[in-house]
Amino acid sequence: MHRSNEGKRVNWSSLGLFRNLRRENKQFAVIGLGRFGRSVCSTLHHLGYEVLGTDIDKRLVDGALTAQIVAHAVQLDSTEPAALKEAGIFELDTVIIAIGNYLQESIITTLNVKEAGVSYVVAKASSEVHGKLLQRVGADRVVYPEHEAGSALARSLTQPSVLERFELDPHHSIVEVAVPEEFHGKTVMELQLRNRYGMSLLAIGKDDHFEINPNPSTRLLKGSIMVVIGSNPDIDRLPI
Ligand code: ATP
Repeated sequence: MHRSNEGKRVNWSSLGLFRNLRRENKQFAVIGLGRFGRSVCSTLHHLGYEVLGTDIDKRLVDGALTAQIVAHAVQLDSTEPAALKEAGIFELDTVIIAIGNYLQESIITTLNVKEAGVSYVVAKASSEVHGKLLQRVGADRVVYPEHEAGSALARSLTQPSVLERFELDPHHSIVEVAVPEEFHGKTVMELQLRNRYGMSLLAIGKDDHFEINPNPSTRLLKGSIMVVIGSNPDIDRLPI
């Protein structure tokens, strides 16, 4: 096992309320260092989390270390429980199984990791049937990156500037959104977000500080951030 020397680098585009809330001492393993797996590693690593990357292909393991997108990397066959155990994967909080194109390996790996007691397992599916199988063997969350990226692109082209999205379930989210031009200078009371948009305002952020549960007389200003909770279609209706 190798270790990179890169320090923690955080480049936040928003005030990062959710990241701050989530930022415990979490450790992650990513199994499968294809394009998706590498992207998960790189983002987690640059957010300052400790990531263990693994792949059956040694070149990809070495590549991840050279590119400094993981803290540790191990070559292993994830269908072998002993190999996963030896690498310490069963002791981590969250394991991401990024093996989309090898159905059997992906299912067996998910089963291995869940059976060993890892509390949160995210698995990448390449089809709906694949996703159902992953759920059956215990995956806590199944992701469909191509589908989700397509839908996110469409949203970003039509939607207000959402800086962060925390999905509560497939239909509801908490989002950090830049205060739309149209809201500039209005008070929380004047906006009537609940009546007009069916959502609740949780916080307003400006200059490194959040006002939680803001006062109805607080005025929203362009350049600030608002944190709202609501259904995805309602959030999509916010002006740009
Ligand atoms: P994408 O780029 O969309 O992530 P990909 O083709 O790069 O797709 P997949 O084909 O889904 O990725 O495979 C991801 C990685 O999983 C590959 O690098 C592959 O070597 C690795 N992999 C496959 N089987 C195993 C296994 N049994 N143990 C560990 N890694 C495996």
